[in-house]
Amino acid sequence: MKAFYASEQKRHDPKAFLSSGAPQPNPEQPERVERLLAGAKKAGCSIERPNDYGLGPIAAIHTPEYIDFLEHIYVRWRRIEGASEEVIPNIHPIARGGSYPASAVGQAGYHMADTACPISAETFESACWSAWSAVAAADAVLAGEPSAYALCRPPGHHAFADVAGGFCFLNNSAIAVQHLRRSAARVAILDVDLHHGNGTQGIFYARPDVLTVSLHADPVRFYPFFWGHADERGEGPGLGYNLNLPLPRKSGDDAFLEALQTALRRIQAFAPEALVVALGLDAFEGDPFGGLSVSTPGFARIAEAVAGLKLPAVIVQEGGYLCDALGDNLTSFLTGFGG
Ligand SMILES: [Zn+2]
Repeated sequence: MKAFYASEQKRHDPKAFLSSGAPQPNPEQPERVERLLAGAKKAGCSIERPNDYGLGPIAAIHTPEYIDFLEHIYVRWRRIEGASEEVIPNIHPIARGGSYPASAVGQAGYHMADTACPISAETFESACWSAWSAVAAADAVLAGEPSAYALCRPPGHHAFADVAGGFCFLNNSAIAVQHLRRSAARVAILDVDLHHGNGTQGIFYARPDVLTVSLHADPVRFYPFFWGHADERGEGPGLGYNLNLPLPRKSGDDAFLEALQTALRRIQAFAPEALVVALGLDAFEGDPFGGLSVSTPGFARIAEAVAGLKLPAVIVQEGGYLCDALGDNLTSFLTGFGG
């Protein structure tokens, strides 16, 4: 399988985030790339550099003011006397609906959902190349490849159309979906990350042409808390085109695969022409987040079940954090998918 990645994606190097109010080292480390690259190569992938697609495919999902914010906020932030080294918000609107703020501090709170996505000088460049890797994988599938893998880092599924959050800036999976929509009338997205894909859900919530399905640890006591519950089904024309399958904490392979069958039946009923798999590997039993208990061979079983849909598929990397098996888990999934 072709895999896409650009070395610029490693330049974003976030230092800290707050967990239950306490500063912790940020888990979304550049070293993830080395582990994932090794895992993709072990699965037989050829690694290709994506093209620079410009802002077009990104602007097809994200708002102009948000893209402008991501591109310029770091320089503006550093002009503030005494400001932190990385852009980290300290004030948020309790709800949207007021005025769009003019100041850097106000815009940081407006466009950043939490403290897990600090912005440094390199963040926008890394996020763009991550998005372009997703576009390149979608292009490969549009050109006839049965599947392609995008080593997207930073990840994307917590990013809304105009909000960063949870280590994510640009929603790579959503960007891949929109790119596939050039020739596919209906696209399904299956998110198997440990965390609910709240940004992806938000982007497509009112659309009937994109089915969003997410399996994840129950958000009742887990990030992203406010989204990912079973009663969120879409709205307006999109009502019925969003399916959340929250799983009890520590669920293992069998529980995951059982819920996956429900997901796959819904996708088959939707009859999409292409599929995007938002591949988080943090559902792993040894992942530092410890939310679910999928095993390394379990990722191959998940992949085999998804590949059984026989749909053209773009596999987009989402989460999965530093642990000894990170690369092996990717190898397991990609090999299970058919290499
Ligand atoms: Zn995750």
